[in-house]
Amino acid sequence: MSDSHILRNDADVRAVVDNVCERGDIALPELDLLLRTDDRPSVEYLHAKAREVAQSVYGKQVYMRGLIEFSSHCRNNCNYCGLRRANRGLPRYRLTDEVILQCCRQGYECGMRTFVLQSGEDAYYTDERLCRLVGRIRAEFPDCAITLSVGERPRESYRALRDAGADRYLLRHETADRHHYGVLHPGEMSFDRRMQCLHDLRDLGYQVGAGFMTGSPGQTTATLFSDLQFIKSFKPEMCGIGPFIATRNTPFAQEPSGTVEMTLRLLSIIRLLHPHVLLPATTALGSLNPFGRELGIKAGANVVMPNLSPEVNRRQYNIYDGKICLGDDITHCRSCLEQRIRSTGYELVVARGDFK
Ligand code: SF4
Repeated sequence: MSDSHILRNDADVRAVVDNVCERGDIALPELDLLLRTDDRPSVEYLHAKAREVAQSVYGKQVYMRGLIEFSSHCRNNCNYCGLRRANRGLPRYRLTDEVILQCCRQGYECGMRTFVLQSGEDAYYTDERLCRLVGRIRAEFPDCAITLSVGERPRESYRALRDAGADRYLLRHETADRHHYGVLHPGEMSFDRRMQCLHDLRDLGYQVGAGFMTGSPGQTTATLFSDLQFIKSFKPEMCGIGPFIATRNTPFAQEPSGTVEMTLRLLSIIRLLHPHVLLPATTALGSLNPFGRELGIKAGANVVMPNLSPEVNRRQYNIYDGKICLGDDITHCRSCLEQRIRSTGYELVVARGDFK
């Protein structure tokens, strides 16, 4: 029996899943099959295998990251993002250090031991300002991890922030395919610079988070294959995968959004290729399906990211349209998430949730 025959039969999808799991690698035709098959039991098998692998490393624990969206100003113009600078209709804000610290205090009360400080690429945040903020959080919460998600900066800036107390850094690579990067971003942005930043962060000792959207314009099975190869070789400690969601006032406003189904399959595949990765069930997943985050956990994810930003600002941080949990206070969010996670047979834990 030839390989091509094997890969055309749904009955053999399970064998492919086993094979991918065993090798910790995937070939392009195997990826194609796993993304295309409509054989439900096989897809369930893929998710079950991913759960098994996740549990072998992290047990049935799900970690919380308290997200603080502290500035919606951005100098960039990414084609998919509602915060892009050309979106003049969006009211912009910056939180003061005091408000940010207050968000951390509320999150800490609710059991969060990781704070994710996220913003657009905002030039107001010089190294001096950002280091001062990180230093204040570090001093007040010595037992917590501080994650930054503030975009591309010079290596020296990453170094200063690391010295100030930041532990982790999220910078989605967006796509590992150079041409596709050019579809998603304006010409002024550089694929090479993005990759260089990721390597700088790694060199400086951060736990690094990469990631990409599923179903973004121009994405193909081949570009996804490049993403998976990148994840396999770079081995980010975290990997954020969420569906592309078409957003008004962006060049992609009329494009079809990505799907929950495709995202779940990719979460599972990534878990098989990189068993130790910290994998969030993203809010974007929950925005497309009321049970998206639960499905994400059942597909092998092990992190959730409740929003600690003040309620008045959440609507203004409009990376994409239709975002959920815009009006819920953090105590409500925490108990809602706790119930949701428990319903999947997992447990939300109070822990930094470092990479193992
Ligand atoms: S994705 Fe990030 S860098 Fe790009 S426009 Fe949005 S906030 Fe700015």
